[in-house]
This record gives sequence, structure tokens and C-alpha cells, in this order.
Amino acid sequence: MSELSPRSLRRLGEIPVSQLRHVGDKRTEALGSLGIENVFDLLTLYPRRYIDRTKRVDVSDLTVGEEAAIFGEVRKVSSRRTKQGKVMVEVVVGDDGGTIKIVFFNQAWRERQLQPGVMALFFSKVTDYKGQRQMTNPVVDVIVGATPEQRDDGSRVGRVVAIYPASGKAGLTSWELGGFIEESLKRAGPLLDPVPSAVLESLSLVDRTASFWGIHLPRNEEEPLPARRRLVFDEFLRLQLLLALRRRRLEESATGISHSIEVSDLDVGPGALVGADSSLVRRFLSGHKFSLTRAQRRVLEEIAHDLASPLPMHRLLQGDVGSGKTVVALTSLLAAIDGSRQGALMAPTEVLAEQHLASLRADLAGLTRPDPDVLAGERPLAIHLLTGRVKAKERQFVLDGLRSGAIDIVVGTHALLSEDVRFKALGVIVIDEQHRFGVEQRAILREKGRLHSMEAADPDLLVMTATPIPRTAAMVVFGDLERSVLDEMPRGRLPIVTRWARSSDAVEDCWAHVRSEVAEGRRVFVVCPLVEGSERVEATSAVEERTRLALNELRGLSVGLLHGQMKGAEKDEVMAQFRAGELQVLVATVVIEVGVDVPEASVMVIEDAWRFGLAQLHQLRGRVGRGSDQGYCYLLGEPPSGDGEARLQALVDSTDGFALAEIDLALRGEGTLLGARQRGRSDLRLASLQDDEELLIAARDVASRMVHDDALASNPQLVDELRLFVDEDEAGYLFKS
Ligand code: ADP
Ligand code: MG
Repeated sequence: MSELSPRSLRRLGEIPVSQLRHVGDKRTEALGSLGIENVFDLLTLYPRRYIDRTKRVDVSDLTVGEEAAIFGEVRKVSSRRTKQGKVMVEVVVGDDGGTIKIVFFNQAWRERQLQPGVMALFFSKVTDYKGQRQMTNPVVDVIVGATPEQRDDGSRVGRVVAIYPASGKAGLTSWELGGFIEESLKRAGPLLDPVPSAVLESLSLVDRTASFWGIHLPRNEEEPLPARRRLVFDEFLRLQLLLALRRRRLEESATGISHSIEVSDLDVGPGALVGADSSLVRRFLSGHKFSLTRAQRRVLEEIAHDLASPLPMHRLLQGDVGSGKTVVALTSLLAAIDGSRQGALMAPTEVLAEQHLASLRADLAGLTRPDPDVLAGERPLAIHLLTGRVKAKERQFVLDGLRSGAIDIVVGTHALLSEDVRFKALGVIVIDEQHRFGVEQRAILREKGRLHSMEAADPDLLVMTATPIPRTAAMVVFGDLERSVLDEMPRGRLPIVTRWARSSDAVEDCWAHVRSEVAEGRRVFVVCPLVEGSERVEATSAVEERTRLALNELRGLSVGLLHGQMKGAEKDEVMAQFRAGELQVLVATVVIEVGVDVPEASVMVIEDAWRFGLAQLHQLRGRVGRGSDQGYCYLLGEPPSGDGEARLQALVDSTDGFALAEIDLALRGEGTLLGARQRGRSDLRLASLQDDEELLIAARDVASRMVHDDALASNPQLVDELRLFVDEDEAGYLFKS
């Protein structure tokens, strides 16, 4: 490992752990079981915490009832059985300040692990047992093992020591891991730093060598912080550079459409005078029921710029349930028709597509477009449906119309993606409820858009989602999309009142309230518990629940049923009856989660609410209170865990989808969110989307500037590093010259 030029990360990745001094076959295998094969893997195994051994807690100072970490040496260990037959291991741990007893129940193996002489960190609440301070079942990090082999290197004793997520299974202590890492760092020497020093200086970031030393071998308690900052920045920078490169490649390969939309068209309000030859956008907005909210106006301006630009739009529109995304979508689609092109609106389910079709036709009724083939010289807009349920003859009609241009807007499901669908000139695609479509589907759609269009240009793409994604997460997960946010509700909307009915009295009140709302002519949704297993099992339980309610709490009311096993036509029938008020209560499985719009629905009752995720609960709640009446949401069921409790409480406390998304992120952790895009050994090991927002934004800015200035062309070292984090195919695509 001796080489004078600074080492790159790639080089570190080429050095197997077996080259380290104390790593033989057994330890190579143990490390391998932790996913650590080379020196790079080792150096990116980051400490979980640090202990400052010069500032130890005095055992004699411990306060009963408080959490504490004790670092000490095992003096004595013994085990016995309690009267209840549990194995109890007792360990006496001492530091300079005295000794404390630590007991473990049902962890017989601790006796072997914590042999006298072992030095370990114990973390838990301090309790009082018969006047003695004690810890029960603490978290244990073994720092120094008892065998001479494990303690041979005493050089790190007496300083700040990094604690690694030691693995009992692999049989490696934190101390051993720290030893391997220390040796790696010492032998690696200076590390190559491909990030321009001007960038580092402007953000006050330490250099790469200092960052690895500072995080693993800090000389004091302060050093890990700046080290971590730098390492986090690097993780974000690599990610953002890749995203920016991806964006640029898309732009380079695109043949976009410059739509004819003017920002001034957006300032037309209801009732404004417009001529018959004005643009559809103008005519639509002047005939609309409401003036745009400020958020709608702002977002439409962002979209208008994209539409007018010759680069294809690739934009995510986020807006809470009820924030008014439809108007934004319609205006965008009309801009395509103004240029004699077509629009497509894609929804995740057939029910939703049909609902969109009905509301689009209603909203756009009366609008006409020029058509030289008809006598009057113009005709109404032609808006049609294309889903798997459309019958062959109608389907052929729609396919022909899309090909000839006789159809202006098509609303559909992913059936729109099928091979035989061809447009004359597809100008704008809107996808509703993005979270149902994956990243790949988005890419396919984009490409299909061009291939399916006789004009062979890339249509502009607007992706709409009601699932609030925290800003930082959006920058990571949807980093290849521009982003617009509707952060304001239309005026006059009353926030939904949410009640968590925990006692049987409260549950009774809930059903009484349901009856009184129904008596007032309003409608009620009841969502059945989520059932593990098949959709069939879930359907069965919904059938039972409906019967139970109809015979008991809701006797005398007309109670309908909706679940995923019903045929399309049956579902439509039920929805129509519910809408018309023939059914007063609808007992349903989560099939109603997305998009269902019944303005008279005022109460949503969710049974066993804790079984649902926070985002899903928020979506469900959004199904009521869409008209002018006060909406109510009742959460039933007692959560078995603190997590479920936190979710329900959050829902009671807030109706703000974005705030809830932040809480969700905190509760579930980032793994789930990012899970889908983890690839190879790339991505975020140290960075936290919640804590490191400032660095994420800085990294994004640096990345877009570097890509814009083509700075990578003169920085082969950085390119080489980025290649480590993508596969061959993608590297070929991103870095071709
Ligand atoms: P989303 O699709 O974002 O959930 P919608 O587009 O369905 O929301 O709009 C929700 C409700 O708000 C609809 O009844 C719609 O007519 C109404 N609405 C939309 N924009 C406005 C506005 N600017 N002022 C008043 N009401 C509006
Ligand atoms: Mg909607």
C-alpha cells in the first residue's frame, strides 16, 4: 500500500481487507458477512457514537431515573436463575469512580461476552434496586475484548474513541473494527480530493483526508463534526451531480415543443371579456367558476414558462388533496390544443380515469376549437376515454381519433401506453397521482410520448401528486423533475375536524354523529380495517362489517358496499347510488383512497386506523369535506404500538399534508423512502435528509453549476469517482462525450 500520489476512492476499493495486518481468513469472512470487503468499505463504516475516555461518567455520580452511558471494565460476572425461572446475568462494572451492578434477564450469552477484563460501554436508564444504583438490560458496545489478541493495541486508550456498530453475530468488537480502520487510514496516506478547493473554501469544508481522520480518529470531541459535514456533502454532491447529468442528457436528446402560451393569459379571471378568437386558455379561465388561488397562479406561471420553452417540461406538481390541481392540469392541456396539438391525462385506476373524464367534460363544456372540416369552422373539444374497460368498437373509434387529430384530449389509465395507441401530435401529458407510477414508468411514458406521436416531438410532462413529499426528499427522489407546489387551499375550505375515538363512549358518539349527518342529507364513508393476506380476505371482511353495521350501529340507514373484488360495473353502480344519495353510507376497503370526489360526503370513519400509514390516512381523510360543509374524520381502534399512537395523534393535530409527511419521514426513517433508489454501494450512508438540508441544497447548487459550466470535462478524477456509484450502462450514457 505504499504509493506517493494521493489515493482515490476507487483505489481504496481495490484493496482487499485481507491485506491488513491482523486480518486473516477468519476475520476476512467476518467482515465479509458485514458487507465489508475492501478498505473503501471499511472507511465508510461510520461510527455510531463517540466516547471521550478522558471525561468518563463517574459511576458514583449517576442519578437514578436518568439515561446514562457508562464506560467501564467488567470486574465480575455471574449468572443464576430467578424464582420465575429466568436466567439472570449479573455483571459488576467499574470505572475510576466506583462500581455499578448491571443485570440482564434472558440473555444467558452475556456471561460469555462480558468476561472480566472486557471494556464496554453500557447505555440505559439508571434504576434503583434496594438502595443500589443499577442498570437493567442496557445496550452494550464491547470496546475492548478480553483476549490478549483483542487488546494488543493499546494506543487508542485514553482519547476520544469511535464506537462502531459492532456485530455480535460476526464476532467483531467495535475495538477491532476501529483497529482495522486506523490501520487503513495510516497506510492509505493522503487521499485524493476531487472536489475543487474553491467549493470547499466557500462552504468551509475540510479536505477529504481530514474528513476521514476526523470521523474515525478524532483527537477531541469537536473534530467529528466538521468531518461529518464534509462526508455528508460528498454524498449529496455525487447524487446531485448524477441527477444533474441525467437532466442534461434528457435535454440534449430531446426535441421539445414550444407551446403558444403567454403568461398574461393567466391573469384572465372569471367573467373577463374575451373574444371568440382568444386562446382556449383565456376562454377557459374567463368562464371558470373561481379566480385562481395565488398558488395556482404561481404554479401555472412556472408551467407556462416550461411549455413555451423548446425544452420538454418534466415537472412534478405537488398539492395536498383539495388544493386545486385539476385547474392547473386543464390549463396545461388546453395550451397543447391552442397549438393544434393533443393532450393526454393518465390516472392510476379506471374509476379515477372515468371520474376525471366526467369532470373534464363538465369543466370544458362550451369550449370550441377551429376545425376547417366542419361547416361552422369550429367544433366542441373532443374528450374521450381509453381504459381496459372500453369496448372494442369504442376503442377503435378513440384510436382513430387520436391518430387523425379528431380527438383533442384522451383520459385513461396505463392502457394509454399500449403499442397501438398513436397520436397525431401529442403536446402535453399529465399524470395524476404519481406515487402509483414508478420511475421507470415515467421514463417509458416520456419516450412513448415521442414515439407515439406522428409529430415525433417530446411532449411536455406534468406529474401530479397529492402525496406530500418533504422538500429534501423530493430533491433526492425526484431530483430529475422540476418541482411546483400548491401550498395554499382555495378559500372557504373548512379544515376537517379529526377525532380519535379511543373509549367505547367516544365510539358511540362517532356513530351517533354519523346518523345525525345522514339525517341532514350528508353522506358517510366507513373504511374497513386493512387485512393482511389477499384482497379476497379483505373483501370478505368488508362484507361482514357492512352486515354488522347495517344490523347494529347503522340500523335503518341504507348502507352500501365497495371493495376491490367487485366488477367495474358493480363499482360504478354503487358509486352512482352513493353520489345520488340512494346509499347514505358506503362501507369500503381502501379502494376509495385515491381521488374519489363526492361533495356531499362529510364524515370519514376509519376502523383500526393504526393499520394504515400516515400518508394513506391523510388521503382517506381528504375524501370528505370537499364541499362547503364541515368535514369530520373519526379514527377508531387502539394502536398496539407507540408508533401507531404517534401516527394517529399527528393526524388529530394537523391537517397539513406537508407537515404530516415530515412527521412520517421522522417516524419511518428515510430508508423506506429512499429504498427504491438505492443502487450498488452508492447513496446516503451518513447524510440525513432531516438534519442536513443546508448541505443538500448547497450540494445541489454546486452540482448544477458544475454541470452547467461543463466543469466535469476538466475533472476526470471526479468523473472517475462518480462512475463508482452507477452501473456500466448508466455510466456510458451519462459520461459519453
Ligand atoms: P385536487 O385535485 O388538488 O385534490 P381539485 O382540483 O379536485 O383538487 O379541487 C378541489 C376543489 O376545490 C374542487 O371542488 C374545485 O372546484 C375547488 N377549487 C379549485 N380551485 C379553486 C379556486 N381557485 N377557488 C375556489 N375553489 C377551487
Ligand atoms: Mg385530483
